[in-house]
Amino acid sequence: MYDLTVIGGGPAGATCARKAAEAGLDVLLLEKANHPRDKPCGGALGPFAVQNLDLDISPMIEHIFHGALVHTPSQKKVILTSKNLTGHLITRSRFDSYLLQKAVDEGVEVIQGVEVVGLEQLKSGIRALAVGDSYKSHLLVGADGVNSIIARKLGVRPKWASDQVAMCISAEVPLNTKDVESVMMTHGAEGCPVIELYFDLVSWGYGWCFPKEKGLSVGVGCRLDKREDLRHAWEKLVTKIELDKGIELDTSRKVSSRVPLGGKIHRSIARRSMLIGDAAGLVSPITGEGISYAIQSGSLAAKIASEAVEMKTPTHVVEYDTQLKKKLEKELIDSRWIADILHRSPKHSELLFQMVDEDPVMRNYFTDVLSRVVPFSNMKGKIGKRMLSKHPLKALQLGLR
Ligand SMILES: Cc1cc2nc3c(=O)[nH]c(=O)nc-3n(C[C@H](O)[C@H](O)[C@H](O)COP(=O)(O)OP(=O)(O)OC[C@H]3O[C@@H](n4cnc5c(N)ncnc54)[C@H](O)[C@@H]3O)c2cc1C
Repeated sequence: MYDLTVIGGGPAGATCARKAAEAGLDVLLLEKANHPRDKPCGGALGPFAVQNLDLDISPMIEHIFHGALVHTPSQKKVILTSKNLTGHLITRSRFDSYLLQKAVDEGVEVIQGVEVVGLEQLKSGIRALAVGDSYKSHLLVGADGVNSIIARKLGVRPKWASDQVAMCISAEVPLNTKDVESVMMTHGAEGCPVIELYFDLVSWGYGWCFPKEKGLSVGVGCRLDKREDLRHAWEKLVTKIELDKGIELDTSRKVSSRVPLGGKIHRSIARRSMLIGDAAGLVSPITGEGISYAIQSGSLAAKIASEAVEMKTPTHVVEYDTQLKKKLEKELIDSRWIADILHRSPKHSELLFQMVDEDPVMRNYFTDVLSRVVPFSNMKGKIGKRMLSKHPLKALQLGLR
């Protein structure tokens, strides 16, 4: 019988398992795929993600960036850069395998190619059921991503509401390194390399083009209930990049995927169990950035699991729910507020980016918001006040009072 079984070996599960093993727990991690596995993702890591990981990820870093170049609906280009910001670009197949290997190095037993299909509550434990096998532990963590079967089997969430999840179309486009360098890493203010974001494609979403070592990550996503425009937005994005950069994109590896959009945190625990990362819906509703939340929630679940095992009190998982809400709920709810303004319509994003372009203080605020350098809850008051005092007409048009 293990102390802890973690289901899913993405950034959330690998971090949780590694940190629980570091704390002395006997940990099993079950992963459905065989790593290295592909995971649709832009692979942009803000400083916060790296800080919380407590690992040297330098071998994984393919590019760094210091901000973003935003394409607005009226085809203006607005640059958001800040001295405070250094972001990293990684490829998920390599990055996730690296995190999983670090968990193995810490003593986690990792079994790959095992899909968990059910759970059984026992008198003194919980059993994860896979095809042809089962695994018993005192505690269990569901880290199985946006389509979490663990959330369903625990009775926590049968499915996402349509405003709680985004649909994406993305592709890893192969390109030789010289071409990546020549077409990407547009240089923003003070010659800093920046990534590119497209707010001229679709309401309730945006597009991206990020450089990788061997190509580009290109994609667009929008809220599920607005997805009728998504295919058209994807075609617009590809054409725009091809024309702007004078290259042809091989999009044959195009995939559709989903990402949850955070807000109010719903129940994230059940008997002897905790949900982390995408399985708990912990993703920025502003940018769709979820790796830092996966790492943060994974670390917290590891801490709570080790306390629960030490105290021999499995009901201690309640503390995970409490602490998770304390750490992240206000930030995610406040992020919803600005996401709802930013993404509501092209008119709304245009007005916001005009303010950012005209006002260096707003530009700094927004750079921090988009990169999660500062938790959004610390920014909401400042942004609201600045809009009303310096840009009252635009604030009024955006619905602020
Ligand atoms: C198109 C797209 C672009 C994105 N871009 C970014 C970005 O640039 N930066 C960023 O920070 N975030 C980005 N995100 C969000 C980010 O990918 C997620 O928030 C992050 O992957 C969450 O990590 P996780 O470990 O919770 O889940 P996942 O990474 O999804 O890992 C879940 C793991 O569980 C395994 N699994 C699933 N079911 C089972 C089962 N039944 N049994 C066993 N194993 C199972 C899966 O194989 C997988 O390995 C993007 C998301 C999408 C869809």
